Amino acid sequence: MSRAFNFCAGPATLPEAVLKQAQSEMLDWRGTGMSVMEMSHRSDEFIAIAEDAEKDLRELAGISDDYAVLFMQGGASSQFSTIPLNLLGDKTSADYVNTGIWSKKAIAEARRYGEVNVVASSEDSSFSTIPDPSTWNTRADAAYLHYTPNETIGGLEYDFIPDSGSVPLVADMSSTMLSRPVEINKFGLIYAGAQKNIGPSGLVVVIIRKDLLGKARKETPTMMNYQVIADNDSMYNTPATYSWYLAGLVFKWLKEQGGVPAMAELNARKARKLYDFIDQNEFYANPIDPRFRSWMNVPFTLADDSLNGDFLKGADARGLLNLKGHRSVGGMRASLYNAMPEVGVDALIAYMAEFARERG
Ligand SMILES: *Cc1c(COP(=O)(O)O)cnc(C)c1O
Repeated sequence: MSRAFNFCAGPATLPEAVLKQAQSEMLDWRGTGMSVMEMSHRSDEFIAIAEDAEKDLRELAGISDDYAVLFMQGGASSQFSTIPLNLLGDKTSADYVNTGIWSKKAIAEARRYGEVNVVASSEDSSFSTIPDPSTWNTRADAAYLHYTPNETIGGLEYDFIPDSGSVPLVADMSSTMLSRPVEINKFGLIYAGAQKNIGPSGLVVVIIRKDLLGKARKETPTMMNYQVIADNDSMYNTPATYSWYLAGLVFKWLKEQGGVPAMAELNARKARKLYDFIDQNEFYANPIDPRFRSWMNVPFTLADDSLNGDFLKGADARGLLNLKGHRSVGGMRASLYNAMPEVGVDALIAYMAEFARERG
């Protein structure tokens, strides 16, 4: 069997070693005679798997006891409503930064529950840069400040953590979680849909400072109430057990690779290689302000759009998959998450060079 290099933005490539381990444990998890998928979530075995995953994530990301770690369901998108329902409290408005399609979705959903103050937007530059924080129109009485550290579709990534003062900082880290070290203590809440850097889709990891628990509006659905989920160790209902287990295997794999600092070094190198190639080859272009180019998602265009189909066909034939850009942006996009090995990026660059030589 041969594994392709899968550049999909999500669900995304997972470490081969993790998939092999899951395969070897599929029918009989460590002598229990059953798959993790078939285990009671209340069993000692599954509770150990769940606790282990949380412990490893805390270690990898440097999460202190001041924070609760929740394994919720409904993907990152369900958090777009869960966050305002839980964090608006007695405040009337929340601050949001608009840097792309995921920011916009979060903003649109929050507007259903309260006033949204868009403190800054880079829409007039087609989301090719991050607005200078000195120009942000933040409010001291905002319930929280929400931003999207990595815009997965646009390929735009912050290289700094905004200073929100005493206002809790909330971040959608779906496509950047565990790709580089982050000071968790600067945040009130971090959430990440799992299918980019953590595991299977549907699972969403939420890291919330404990003083922000217990503020949910009365009408908040029980399943969306952070306090309820925290009080029940993310097992108020049946959690996404298999996804949780798989995320745990990914965390173990990350520790074996040297943890987040080692990943950051590798990710920086992979991204730099690809951007350098794009910048040096006249046939390819990336529209993002170089300071804010994403390490994880690299969109690029061909000098001649009519060759897009041929480019993708040739890539598929070489096992370089899912390079088509998001339908709203067009062009190409290569996602280089933790599990994408450097040889995958090398193979992509070699193909791009060959294609430009022959067809450019
Ligand atoms: C993928 C993604 C989402 C949506 O995740 P779902 O799990 O599909 O809801 C939200 N925000 C960002 C930044 C993403 O990359």
